[in-house]
Amino acid sequence: MRTRTLGAASLAALLLLTLTACGQEARGGSRYRPDAGKGGTIGLAMPTKSSERWIADGENMAKQFRKAGYDTDLQYGDDKVENQIAQIENMITKGRRLLVIAAIDGSALTEVLQRAHDAGIPVISYDRLIMGTPNVDYYASFDNERVGELEARYIVERLGLGSPAKGGGKPYDIELFAGSPDDNNTRYFWSGAVKVLQPYLDSGQLVVRSGQTRMNQATTLRWDGGTAQKRMDDLISKNYGEESVDAVLSPYDGISIGIISALKSAGYGTPDRPLPVVTGQDAELASVKSIIRGEQTQTVFKDTRKLAAQAVAMGDAVLNGRKPEVNNVKDYDNGRKTVPSYLLDPVSIDRTNTGLLVREGYFTAGQLS
Ligand code: BGC
Repeated sequence: MRTRTLGAASLAALLLLTLTACGQEARGGSRYRPDAGKGGTIGLAMPTKSSERWIADGENMAKQFRKAGYDTDLQYGDDKVENQIAQIENMITKGRRLLVIAAIDGSALTEVLQRAHDAGIPVISYDRLIMGTPNVDYYASFDNERVGELEARYIVERLGLGSPAKGGGKPYDIELFAGSPDDNNTRYFWSGAVKVLQPYLDSGQLVVRSGQTRMNQATTLRWDGGTAQKRMDDLISKNYGEESVDAVLSPYDGISIGIISALKSAGYGTPDRPLPVVTGQDAELASVKSIIRGEQTQTVFKDTRKLAAQAVAMGDAVLNGRKPEVNNVKDYDNGRKTVPSYLLDPVSIDRTNTGLLVREGYFTAGQLS
């Protein structure tokens, strides 16, 4: 009797185990104990504090990882590649459980990520794709081509350009700026924008007086506003006398601010010579205020809180044997592998919809007044 009871109990236990194992298979594809992988420290390697967005990205992730049950080690590389590599090396030595990296130079991390791989540390590429290494597990970003597309569409609409097939009308002058050549996002922003602008350049409705229409003529090392300002000074003095430039494609608010300074020193921003349409990206406070003042014309809002949440969800899944949610498994090839990605949607902002940033709680009404 006793043996039979025990037998039934063991059978029940076995059944329970099997059922649980099936459940585990269904959820994670591997043996999974909820929250078994919580705890420990996550390494967060961000590029620079010189731009608000990266400060917010780092802080948002640290906060959200802590809420999910982890400690964090948040480092900023001061836009120096060797600093970032040293910081990541240090994170590996200290046994960080997961690395979330927004690379300064997307192609400079191959060796250090080999070391991370050898130490069994998973890697999430944050916002910028890390190139040339198989040792990057997931990528969280925005739809980067769409960012460029939004900027270029804004220019086309704001200038009121008709259909390129019909051509005609007064041609408008435009100059083009690109981001840092070592940031993989740069080419996505550029190609998204050029795809929209090309038909108008071909039809002659848009003219680049400087002739600098190739991406490598338009890049801005480390996204530096001062570098953009110098290039804009130069473009104005060499190509525009009596004529005024009508639009400037800018891929980042810090660059836009440099461009606007150059334009103002050349006498733009008066009733006789209004500022051109100037785009941007990131909805940084100074630029949103500039938009409200009527200087910068447009920016692209990428909610860094949502991106941080995505990276935290990915990291938590990886550490707990679950498969992170992805929505793009074909477009982000880093030269060694196609990195499974989650892309969020960017939103175009101009004077008419800055209120969205307040409604979304990104800024307070007071910050924008
Ligand atoms: C980011 C942009 C940012 C730029 C400069 C890019 O990689 O995607 O949001 O404007 O870097 O920091």
